[in-house]
Amino acid sequence: MPGVIDARNRDAALRALAAGPLDVLVIGGGITGAGAALDAASRGLRVGLIESRDLAAGTSSRSSKLIHGGLRYLEQGDFKLVKEALRERDLLVSRLAPHLVRPVPFLYPLYKKVVERPYVGAGLVIYDVMEGTRRPVPHHRHLSTRGALRRAPALRPDRLAGAMVYYDAQVDDARYTITVARTAARHGAIVLTGATAVSLLSSGGATPRGMSDEKANISDMQVGERVIGARVRDEESGRLFDVPATRVVVCAGVWSDLVHEASGVRAGYQVRMSKGVHLVMARSAIDAETGMIVRTSKSVLFFIPWGERWIVGTTDTEWSGDRAEPAATVEDVDYILGEANRVLASPLSRADVLAVYAGLRPLVAEPPAAKPPAAKHGGTGSGAAAGTGAGEKPTTKLSREHVVDAPLPGLVSIAGGKFTTYRLMARDVVDAAVDGFPRPVPPSVTGSLPLLGADGLPAVRASARRLADDYLVALPAVEHLIDRYGSVAGEVLDLIGADKSLGQPLADGYPYLRAEVAYAVTHEGALHIADVLARRVRLLIESPDAGASAAPEVAAIMSPLLGWHRRRRTEEIRRYQALAAENTAALRTPAPSLSPEISIPA
Ligand SMILES: Cc1cc2nc3c(=O)[nH]c(=O)nc-3n(C[C@H](O)[C@H](O)[C@H](O)COP(=O)(O)OP(=O)(O)OC[C@H]3O[C@@H](n4cnc5c(N)ncnc54)[C@H](O)[C@@H]3O)c2cc1C
Repeated sequence: MPGVIDARNRDAALRALAAGPLDVLVIGGGITGAGAALDAASRGLRVGLIESRDLAAGTSSRSSKLIHGGLRYLEQGDFKLVKEALRERDLLVSRLAPHLVRPVPFLYPLYKKVVERPYVGAGLVIYDVMEGTRRPVPHHRHLSTRGALRRAPALRPDRLAGAMVYYDAQVDDARYTITVARTAARHGAIVLTGATAVSLLSSGGATPRGMSDEKANISDMQVGERVIGARVRDEESGRLFDVPATRVVVCAGVWSDLVHEASGVRAGYQVRMSKGVHLVMARSAIDAETGMIVRTSKSVLFFIPWGERWIVGTTDTEWSGDRAEPAATVEDVDYILGEANRVLASPLSRADVLAVYAGLRPLVAEPPAAKPPAAKHGGTGSGAAAGTGAGEKPTTKLSREHVVDAPLPGLVSIAGGKFTTYRLMARDVVDAAVDGFPRPVPPSVTGSLPLLGADGLPAVRASARRLADDYLVALPAVEHLIDRYGSVAGEVLDLIGADKSLGQPLADGYPYLRAEVAYAVTHEGALHIADVLARRVRLLIESPDAGASAAPEVAAIMSPLLGWHRRRRTEEIRRYQALAAENTAALRTPAPSLSPEISIPA
């Protein structure tokens, strides 16, 4: 199987899903759903994945992009989560996705001379020890004040009492999610984007209920009914069709409650949405050669190197608005700048911010008392936010662990967790789904299954110069492709081989090539301009105009592939430019003069 999701063959995927029956239908194409589809498909099951918008269109393109144990969770005593996450981090860096997940150093500045170094040092010793002995990332190190300032001259020197350096890893979250979905396709999964599960089908013949109206009057599915598939709306045509499946797995992130409620399912957990905002800045705005993590009054603030840019964030505030496009506000932007300015020698202002993005954490809380929790299925990572009254906790205090719930026969649902632990989440939810399956199902194999692009990586890296010569492409462009596509970079180069114009840059000052747009359609399932500019290449969050000026060029490349005529092309460009305008709104509001706090974080 080639591992291709070809947007031009979408109708074939749709027909295959409708023909059924599937062993497992996964609802949701974020990292959890893509991971579940891969886990199930690689156990030999017949799998379908439906995603209402695009792969990674929800939270999975809007994270801090760290594959990490989470130093902060260690302080909260969440040892199990940290240990699992560190093991996963190392597995991804070393074996499963070395082309996509890379170690990154973080500097942790110290401000309290006597007490802080032993405290943070002890935490980092635990962090390193938990990882185990075969470590693909270096140990932590102690730095003097001079050493800290050498690595990060941007830090305010007064009261700085040295620093620690430790390692985590980072990833392009959307690209990773797409790669997991493609690997699932390589193992036979049928992946369809632009397809929404509007209701669950049940053996009791309950009338499917739409989930578009959140306030619909819903009666509950009856106890004893078995879920036997889902009714799906094709978002491109508006048509409804049924997908029969022996098991349905809900991986809908912050939409989970809506999926349950639409069919009157009483799930054993509820999702609380917590908004996190990040700012993107030029590398020149902050003079530091490593990432940095600093304490804030509520949590921590990361300065994360991102190519020629920094990603700085994040926030953690309760959210009850639009799930699809959560908005960053002026207050979010100013909060992050204020916290950053507490530690920086030269204060940042809004003028330094190139872009801003917001995402929603799907945190799990106990359901209200009226809805008793359903039986929970637990692998090692299962378990709701413990204790009573979890629903009252501030979102910063809610557990980052995941919950697997099986509210009805044939139906399993998962939420919570972290990007880093997606593979364990996928394993746990598929284990729960195949419990009592009509035939034996082998255990998960994803721990030894490299993702698409990982096999043969060293040989392809070593061949970069030859590839540059063969395809008449500059060496940095080939290296850029290998960094993003791994050992299948040759597929993108083949497009350039057939049409030299695709070897040109997509936008001045960015490494992306025009060929990546065509490849997004032919191999990665991109249906709309946003699928390309927001998730296949990252101009939505990297460029000051959020990629608006590149939209016509992207439309020109997509049009012949997807048969767009002039009116459709104009409409696609208009839609993207409206999205870009929404994304830059928080930066267009006139800035009051920022008065950075000068106290040093506790
Ligand atoms: C600000 C922020 C920073 C974070 N940083 C990190 C980090 O650095 N490291 C880390 O490990 N984790 C991080 N996380 C957590 C991590 O990003 C999430 O846990 C993870 O992305 C959630 O993935 P998901 O697949 O569960 O949800 P999503 O990515 O939201 O996917 C759910 C999908 O379901 C689809 N869907 C919904 N309803 C339907 C339906 N009816 N039919 C079909 N499809 C449907 C949606 O369109 C969506 O694409 C962060 C989260 C946030 C918000």
